[in-house]
Amino acid sequence: MARPEVRITHAEEFSAAHRLHAPQLSDAENKALYGPCNTVHGHNYRVEVTVTGPVDPVTGMVMNLTELMRIMREEIWDHVDHQHLNETVPFLKGILPTAENLAIVFWQRVHAQRERLGSARLFRVRVVESRDNFVDYFGDLR
Ligand SMILES: [Zn+2]
Repeated sequence: MARPEVRITHAEEFSAAHRLHAPQLSDAENKALYGPCNTVHGHNYRVEVTVTGPVDPVTGMVMNLTELMRIMREEIWDHVDHQHLNETVPFLKGILPTAENLAIVFWQRVHAQRERLGSARLFRVRVVESRDNFVDYFGDLR
């Protein structure tokens, strides 16, 4: 029988500014679509990265959450905390910084470090933008 698979999550919080403005739309359309989010404002974001894998019979863990924390800090937090997401983060250049797009980019950055996940696999990236609004990305759903 296969070993039980468990999903484990680490979360990090960061503060950043952004502005939602789609260059393909007119100023009036942007204003109507995004409302107050069309002007520069900030959020206290929460990013949760969930990995899934078998529980190691020796360590009792899927992976060391400290290593997942390091990956998230190096790949995400160090680059976005107290930044302007439209302007000062090189890996977000040209990307409209909605929570959806942030989740996709954060996934790609953690996925690029997948060798450090051991036998665990990336399962979900959640970006919480405000108390009531958050998005989930599960990679390319197969
Ligand atoms: Zn916003």
